[in-house]
Amino acid sequence: MKKSIEKVLVINSGSSSLKYQLFDMATETRLAKGLVERIGCGGPATHAEALKQVVAELGDAAKGIDAIGHRILHGGETFRDSALMTKANMAKAKKLVKFGPLHMPANLGGIEACERTFRGVPNVGVFDTAFHIATMPDCAGMYAIDPKYYKKMGIRKYGFHGTSHKFVTQAAAKFLKKPLSKVNLVTCHLGNGSSLAAIRSGGVVDTSMGLTPLAGMVMGTRCGDIDAAAVLAIMEAEGKTPAEMDVILNKKSGLLALAGSSDCRDICAKAAKGDKAAELALEMLAYRVALYIGAYNTIVGGADAIVMTGGIGENSSEVRERIVWRLGALGVKLDKSANKVRGELKAISAKGSKIPVVVIPTNEELMIARDTVRILGK
Ligand code: ADP
Repeated sequence: MKKSIEKVLVINSGSSSLKYQLFDMATETRLAKGLVERIGCGGPATHAEALKQVVAELGDAAKGIDAIGHRILHGGETFRDSALMTKANMAKAKKLVKFGPLHMPANLGGIEACERTFRGVPNVGVFDTAFHIATMPDCAGMYAIDPKYYKKMGIRKYGFHGTSHKFVTQAAAKFLKKPLSKVNLVTCHLGNGSSLAAIRSGGVVDTSMGLTPLAGMVMGTRCGDIDAAAVLAIMEAEGKTPAEMDVILNKKSGLLALAGSSDCRDICAKAAKGDKAAELALEMLAYRVALYIGAYNTIVGGADAIVMTGGIGENSSEVRERIVWRLGALGVKLDKSANKVRGELKAISAKGSKIPVVVIPTNEELMIARDTVRILGK
């Protein structure tokens, strides 16, 4: 008989940090969590060394790990679900490094380090794009440019935060007491990076991020949706290279450019003191979210619920209120008192609201651990 998978280590191996959580999946409880920072810049020299530090920190808890789940940024169109990272799958994943030159080598390096450190323990890759790419139709996923760019370079929409959207979709189905295959939702992951997903019959039919996480919402440091011609105009006028423009759009735009901080708490505090730039930044953020909720409600054929998650979605009553009052045409009504909730699962819409609005704390690490168990049980 196959040994059941109980003790699961979850690894999020980034370019300069390695986050981990250890779960007992018999009860879905977290046994340990930690973070190794400054890899390659003052701390451990490599991801393998960082992993040694993790083993040391875990002590006895590092014994008897049944499986390891890894967060991986990009699965392209190759990975439509999480997958056991065999030699063949590692080779396929390495072909996708072009989609995430910064993150993918670190993600895959984390797997290779685990193969050496935890000999014989299976590694499962959980891709941030897979939940979207599994079911998103071409009418939502393709860009209206010459299809040769899709064929040659894979230029299309992939979407990100899939693990979070999947977790809250499952949690929302449970909350609504509906089978997953019958649930229609608009899920809003609002954090430092933000994305919305349109969920029809339990699967993604559209999402706001694109080829990269730059598209869609107004984010901490990313501009989100912008006329591509505006980008070209800036490049031309200021003689910027593509690499310089990448930094401007991904790291120096969004809330940071509009109001001087990428942290939504700072912006809320400034707006409360009457800072006009901060006020406009919050309105732009909320407007864009409401715009997409309206669109996605149409696309899913009427949502059973609107879900708010991520650092802002879970905690900021202020931002939620600025979004929800814009949804009057959908018959959505806010319960101001319920909207005070922070970091807990709770409906924040009033009784008469046509669509419930629900705050659901996300748990990407637990989702990765659940997928790891599911993949190995196949
Ligand atoms: P990441 O995308 O990096 O995982 P998070 O999901 O943790 O980020 O979200 C971080 C964002 O959440 C920050 O902009 C932070 O200001 C915001 N946030 C957290 N708590 C609050 C709050 N109480 N009010 C407003 N914003 C908040």
